[in-house]
Amino acid sequence: MALVTLIEDDDAIRSALRTALVERGHAVRVAATAADGLLLVSESAGDVVVLDLGLPDVDGHQALKMLRSISSVPVIVATARDDEREIVHALDSGADEYIVKPFSAAQLEARIRALLRRVRGVEANPKLTVGGLTVDLGRRTATLDGSALELSRKEFDLLHYLAARSGSVVTKRELLTEVWRQPYGGADRTVDVHLSWLRRKLGESASKPRYLRVVRGVGAQLVDPGA
Ligand code: CA
Repeated sequence: MALVTLIEDDDAIRSALRTALVERGHAVRVAATAADGLLLVSESAGDVVVLDLGLPDVDGHQALKMLRSISSVPVIVATARDDEREIVHALDSGADEYIVKPFSAAQLEARIRALLRRVRGVEANPKLTVGGLTVDLGRRTATLDGSALELSRKEFDLLHYLAARSGSVVTKRELLTEVWRQPYGGADRTVDVHLSWLRRKLGESASKPRYLRVVRGVGAQLVDPGA
């Protein structure tokens, strides 16, 4: 059971989802505008936010940014159509998960449960170490030889995903699916670009890799260079 904040302007969808989620044992707060939704979250974060990207008062991505500026609560965005660019943009702006309309309450509830499992699993064991690199998922910070790394949200997610599987080659496909939540192909470049940014943040170059090894055309692995 979770405290769900449902931000959706369509009255019929909002009330149907609320009823269905309450029937499944969740507590649900609702808002019909981004402004009202942000107010609820600022009062208390709750466990998860379901944010419709098509709201009447504020553009969905702007709403997401505003929400992220006040809370790190897990967010599922609901997008009107299966628009890959829109989904990628939302995930890059801080959404944790997405769902494409029309969706059933059962599907939404399954996404909520999966997301909470992920978040709570992380809380149970938030710190990973690979050589001199430490990745703290609870605080969303990373250090290299004791110095803090300045990472964007996606760079952090990428580093954490690789650190949790250190020593193994992780494919670009898997990174797209698991880090970008984008199961259908396309934006391989997104992964390449973030890998090169991450490499730079780690103070490495492609010709002299230490922690981050990129396997061209395949994927990447994080290794302990001292092992
Ligand atoms: Ca809408």
